[in-house]
Amino acid sequence: MGNEDVLKDSCAVFGCSVSRECLNETNVFSTIYLGLIALQHRGQESSGMVLSDGKEFSVKKGMGLVDSVYADVTPNEKGYIGIGHNRYSTTGKSLVLNCQPFVVHSNYGKIAVAHNGELVNAGKIRKSLLKQGIGLSTESDSELITQLLVQEPPGEQNGVDWVSRITNLMQIAECSFSCVMLTSENEIFAFRDPFGNRPLCIGELSKNTSIECGESKKVCRQLSMYIVSSESCAFTSIGAALIRDVNPGEIIRICPDGIQSLGIVGRNKEDSHSAFCIFEYVYFARPDSFFEGQEVYTVRKECGRQLALESAVEADVVSTIPDSAGPAARGFSEKSGIPYEDVFIKNRYIGRTFIQPNSADRKLGITTKFGTLNSNIKGNRIVLIDDSIVRGNTMPHVIEMLKNAGAKEIHIRIASPPLKHPCFMGINIPTKEELIANDYNSMELAKYWGVDSLVYLSLDGLTRAVKKNSSTKQDGHCMSCLTGKYPVQLQW
Ligand code: SF4
Repeated sequence: MGNEDVLKDSCAVFGCSVSRECLNETNVFSTIYLGLIALQHRGQESSGMVLSDGKEFSVKKGMGLVDSVYADVTPNEKGYIGIGHNRYSTTGKSLVLNCQPFVVHSNYGKIAVAHNGELVNAGKIRKSLLKQGIGLSTESDSELITQLLVQEPPGEQNGVDWVSRITNLMQIAECSFSCVMLTSENEIFAFRDPFGNRPLCIGELSKNTSIECGESKKVCRQLSMYIVSSESCAFTSIGAALIRDVNPGEIIRICPDGIQSLGIVGRNKEDSHSAFCIFEYVYFARPDSFFEGQEVYTVRKECGRQLALESAVEADVVSTIPDSAGPAARGFSEKSGIPYEDVFIKNRYIGRTFIQPNSADRKLGITTKFGTLNSNIKGNRIVLIDDSIVRGNTMPHVIEMLKNAGAKEIHIRIASPPLKHPCFMGINIPTKEELIANDYNSMELAKYWGVDSLVYLSLDGLTRAVKKNSSTKQDGHCMSCLTGKYPVQLQW
């Protein structure tokens, strides 16, 4: 979707515990910090971390990117267990007040909660909590989750049975949430809503230790940390291994003694299917992350192959806008036999806060950010691949640059179906009126933008690409922004 015309994800969560054998030699600050750095693409407005040393919580939160928020924290900050969060706001303003994790005192000790997603029925829950006399200090639906977690489930006197409370939350709160919760009992609960809309996975870190063995030294692998993360790319960055996805509705407990599954809460809604966000594959996730047993990069490449099958065209070069749809462009090239060449070069030093309030500034933003490789463009028929189109406000400038550089023909191919409906589950897709696919069909859009053709990937093509190498047997994905069919009833 070419840069400024982007969708934003709602957040990242991360958590880890040192294993019992390593309690005295390791702290988790650096691990959580590196995990949050790896997950920076999921939220850049603020970051927060809560650590526990077995006695006290220490909390650090701030606005900005991970490296600036923790710039003054020493790496030997105490804590053998902790959780972290990167935020992009969908509900609740971009204020330090709304930074997560939220920490609250409850009847059962302190808890810290971090959330990725957005509750479809947040308004209803907010009203109900206020009616019960519970004061709320933020506009964020993550605070609603925190408040629901400290409530006694109706008709139960369970003391500190967190599984009952999480189950109760899952029955009240509707799509979507992937959460990590740190308790004062020094355990992390990680759970995913019963539709599995936002990602969450578990992993473990081993370290090499050498032991004396007669005359020689023997190197052993020793488990040193248990980890939960929004995406597995964070495991790679700290040298950990992915175990598996947390299943939809599953509650996981992580503590120094290991990782334990505490059961799965089913969906309330009959005739429903699991609803993992298909846009995690199309755009949000880092290409080196794994969901449902497959690498995101391979799915994006397969989307490009499917697109080539569905929209063959005679051309000289397949290309893309840097950092956008590279894997899909390579898949298209592979399937079509048209060589891949770069046509744009990105200026790596352009500031990320460059603001484009109007079309003229936006155009300046794009020409400042990208240069054209004229030798690959001049006289050539170009297939330009993008992953998706939202408002469509940057593509006209990109097309103009290709024309100015002498492109003979321009064929736009979009590696996902037309985006026509808003998202109510954590992604800032604009209103229907702002989505350009609601104003023009593909032929009209090609004409409007002055290109030779424009074709979107079909829903079937996207589904085929996502299912091709999946090792899990999930019975569906959320595609609501493409189809207008939502996994739960919309309510405000
Ligand atoms: S509506 Fe679209 S962006 Fe939102 S969760 Fe569903 S697939 Fe993802």
